[in-house]
Amino acid sequence: MKVLVLGAGQLARMMSLAGAPLNISISAYDVNSDSIVHPLTQQPLGKGLDKAIADADVVTAEFEHIPLPILAQCQQSGKFLPGETAIKAGGDRRLEKQLLDDAGVRSAAYHIVNNKADFEQAIRKLGLPLVFKSALAGYDGKGQWRLKRVEDAAALWQQLDAFLQADSKQSIVAEQFIPFQREVSLIGARQANGDVKVFPLTENHHVNGVLSVSLAVDGNKQLQQQAEQMFTAVAEQLNYIGVLAIEFFDVDGELLVNEIAPRVHNSGHWTQQGADVCQFEQHLRAVCNLPLGSAALVRPSLMVNILGEDSVPEAILDIPGLHLHWYGKTKRAGRKMGHINLSAATTTELKARFETLISLLPETAFPELAIMAARLK
Ligand code: AMP
Repeated sequence: MKVLVLGAGQLARMMSLAGAPLNISISAYDVNSDSIVHPLTQQPLGKGLDKAIADADVVTAEFEHIPLPILAQCQQSGKFLPGETAIKAGGDRRLEKQLLDDAGVRSAAYHIVNNKADFEQAIRKLGLPLVFKSALAGYDGKGQWRLKRVEDAAALWQQLDAFLQADSKQSIVAEQFIPFQREVSLIGARQANGDVKVFPLTENHHVNGVLSVSLAVDGNKQLQQQAEQMFTAVAEQLNYIGVLAIEFFDVDGELLVNEIAPRVHNSGHWTQQGADVCQFEQHLRAVCNLPLGSAALVRPSLMVNILGEDSVPEAILDIPGLHLHWYGKTKRAGRKMGHINLSAATTTELKARFETLISLLPETAFPELAIMAARLK
């Protein structure tokens, strides 16, 4: 099978690595340069979306901020999975909120803001504090504003107004601030026959809005069931095929959806070593109409993102159960350069190994890791 991935980053790269044993070959389409590249070497393979689609059996995506004409062309080919509607819902917070409402799935109360009257209505309807999010192109906490005190409303409106004026396609979603205890995500797959398999819930820690650590241990069964039921509702609403990620806020054991990602997800990288079949293979199985594999946790695992660094101390490779994954990218401040997966037979052993890892990594480049080590018993 030949799969074309829209986007040529690390997710396409890891799909390529996972697809090889199944004889699934991946090519990646860089939407910015209109070129087809090899996802591992970035070697140019050709130009133009027509050719890329014609050469592929299946078309999928590794990100959701894709120009609409490209999505329309892929959809028309009849090869695109999970398809235009799902990708658009992941890339536009207005559509995402509507989808969650239609699926009957809880998320933060919201109001769409296009002008000053909407802004004032959002404050009246939802109360403070509020989180304002750009409808388009928002990710990793970018395009977000907070409003805590009514005295600051006028100054914030100036900023939001300037933002809206600068791009007629933009809009803002005002959301009630959720006082969550923690953030978790559920990654799973749905197949054409409706079969759904989800990985265990992953607990995530962000630093400055960017994922730092994901932790997957056998956890709370009630929470897992709740997440699974919400996952299935969203996936069925979209008639989804492929891997879908849902990020949640955990508020006293009640989950609210923060956002969805219609693709493999950073908080699922631990599945490469911690699950029976990893998220990348699972996605390929789903979109190639192959049976889904087991999504069971085989050992407690965690992932640490490597941000803005192109080297780590080699000594970390001495830690048992540690796997280092580089993405082959040029170093840039804050850029996702690679990740470290760490696994162990028990959570106690994982904690000990994590503490060794933390002692070897520079604190400035890897802040706040101890917060997640403390979660392990
Ligand atoms: P997002 O880009 O929507 O994932 O938001 C980035 C981060 O902002 C999230 O991981 C949360 O930590 C925080 N956040 C987003 N929405 C809310 C909300 N409604 N209430 C509280 N915190 C939020």
